[in-house]
Amino acid sequence: MKSFEFECKRVLLGRLEKGDDVLEGLTEFCVQHGVAAGSIQALGLLQRGRLRFYDQATAAHHETEFEEGMEIASLVGNISSKDGEVFLHCHVVLADRQGRCSGGHLTTGNIAFVCEFAIMALEGTVPERTHDEATGLIMW
Ligand code: ZN
Repeated sequence: MKSFEFECKRVLLGRLEKGDDVLEGLTEFCVQHGVAAGSIQALGLLQRGRLRFYDQATAAHHETEFEEGMEIASLVGNISSKDGEVFLHCHVVLADRQGRCSGGHLTTGNIAFVCEFAIMALEGTVPERTHDEATGLIMW
């Protein structure tokens, strides 16, 4: 088990613009506001969505696309570093008009209709992501 300890210095609230890519927009916000480590939560609406699923048996990534408007029922994630750059790892639950939910890893291709977010910015040694032999993933 690995753990890290931080002081919480700032909490930032923000909103993406209609048409922004959620992952790219949130990452850009963190870079602009000097957030190198932290946690993030968000909600809103997407014009279209894309979720990724990691198959543990085959180590393959599968993507599901949503061409209709979807609610961001929940988005949670963390902010750290990969290859020396700000890196967000977020998972999201999307709901359709009947309230049916799909969830997975947030990738690019999720286009905001609206998206409000809260970021807890942490001060301390920023975790750096590296390849993890046990899972095949890029982890702290
Ligand atoms: Zn993930």
